[in-house]
Amino acid sequence: MTRNDAHTLEELENSLPAEILVRDPASMEAYRRDRANDPHAGVPLVVVRPTTTEQVQRVVLIAAAHGTPIVPRGAGTGLSGGSTAVDRAIVLSVDRMNTITVDPVTRTVVSGPGALNAEVKAAAAEHGLWYPPDPSSFEICSIGGNVATNAGGLCCVKYGVTTDYVLGMTVVLADGRAVKLGGPRLKDVAGMSLTKLFVGSEGTLGVITEVQLRLIPAQNPPTTLVATFPTLEDTTATVLAITQRMRPSMLEFMDHATINAVEDATRMGLDRDAAGMLIVQSDESTEAAVAEISLIESICNAHGATECYTTDDPEEGEAFVTARRMAIPAIERHGAVLLEDVGVPLPRLGDLVTGIAEIARRNDVTIATMAHAGDGNTHPLIVHDPSDAEQLARAHDAYGEVMSLAIELGGTITGEHGVGRLKRPWLADYLGDDVLELNHLIKNALDPNGILNPGSVLAPAAETRESTAR
Ligand SMILES: Cc1cc2nc3c(=O)[nH]c(=O)nc-3n(C[C@H](O)[C@H](O)[C@H](O)COP(=O)(O)OP(=O)(O)OC[C@H]3O[C@@H](n4cnc5c(N)ncnc54)[C@H](O)[C@@H]3O)c2cc1C
Repeated sequence: MTRNDAHTLEELENSLPAEILVRDPASMEAYRRDRANDPHAGVPLVVVRPTTTEQVQRVVLIAAAHGTPIVPRGAGTGLSGGSTAVDRAIVLSVDRMNTITVDPVTRTVVSGPGALNAEVKAAAAEHGLWYPPDPSSFEICSIGGNVATNAGGLCCVKYGVTTDYVLGMTVVLADGRAVKLGGPRLKDVAGMSLTKLFVGSEGTLGVITEVQLRLIPAQNPPTTLVATFPTLEDTTATVLAITQRMRPSMLEFMDHATINAVEDATRMGLDRDAAGMLIVQSDESTEAAVAEISLIESICNAHGATECYTTDDPEEGEAFVTARRMAIPAIERHGAVLLEDVGVPLPRLGDLVTGIAEIARRNDVTIATMAHAGDGNTHPLIVHDPSDAEQLARAHDAYGEVMSLAIELGGTITGEHGVGRLKRPWLADYLGDDVLELNHLIKNALDPNGILNPGSVLAPAAETRESTAR
């Protein structure tokens, strides 16, 4: 340990309660990686689990004085390596900052960043209210992590993503100041949109210590349609035909490999021969939902659906949605995965999905693709055996090719998981020089010494893709 690190530790120990400092290597192990499972995760100096904004400020001030890196961390369910520890870092885990206060009058909630998305939803439901953003991981991910990644999910196709519900927040800046941005007001245009700047900033601009979120009236029980198709082209053409005419409350896609992995895990009787499957929901009031779903059914049939099944039983509908939510863990049972998150404008969804299948064939790897299809946001999972060096190399080639394809189709390298450390090498290709420079200018203005989540999202200017890709 360097003298500088020893001073950092000593000052943390002198100014914070002992119970919020985690020092022993076995306990720190649980805080080194997110769900991207980076094998090269660093070894942190210490994990700090503060309970107040003031404690976060003290940590940041000490880190700033010694140039010690800070890796902000929520629940560690991220899929892009955003909360992967770096050597000598303070991992700042906000998991204990989890109080939730709902104000049914303004239909807002004030939440600690460490509260789980599901806990915020449950607190809102007690007042007949609903917090819509619903990443598949909603039972295990934190609301602060959702804000920091601008998380999406299954109902975004109708209800938007996290940023659409963020009214305000408290953020600890890299110099230790705590600022309050926005508040429980539906309209507020005073000054620049700084609240939105921090949404999706992935822990690189500040540590979020409180969020204020908008709630809406509780959702109607959904009516669900499940349709299977013989080809990918039929499936994606159906998505476009639906979204051109209406806004279902869910429009999810699974390809052949995903259907089979989910069926292996659930034995719920999914059609193993289908090339594509759509799960669609309507949460309109009863009669309107029947009309919407029957129109969607006729669109599916007109596009060659082999089977269409509808149910207005919310529990039965939820079983299909749960099957979709467990698609990632179901595929993880078949091997290590490199998880993609590319998105395209809806008319290019067909080209993206068929292009991904072609990339799989060309590189001789299995790619299972699922999608928040109504948003044009796909999750191709490249399944591989990391102990087979040659297969691993092909998987990494496919990973890069999928992102290049998305860019070529006018899409993005990440629709909701964030850039983190895994996608950093491709960010320049996507943003272009001017916008990348703008990102660096903002980062340098707010964190001139680069102590907040170094190495995530933005690369040092001289770094090349070859030097970072593994
Ligand atoms: C099975 C599975 C399904 C998933 N499905 C979806 C999905 O449908 N949609 C979706 O969007 N994501 C999905 N995810 C990804 C993940 O759950 C989200 O990215 C989530 O928002 C991360 O929250 P977290 O609390 O786990 O954050 P972490 O993983 O701990 O951190 C994520 C990033 O946010 C930063 N961060 C966390 N907390 C703070 C804070 N308080 N202040 C500043 N920065 C902070 C971290 O530094 C890191 O860069 C899924 C993950 C899994 C494992």
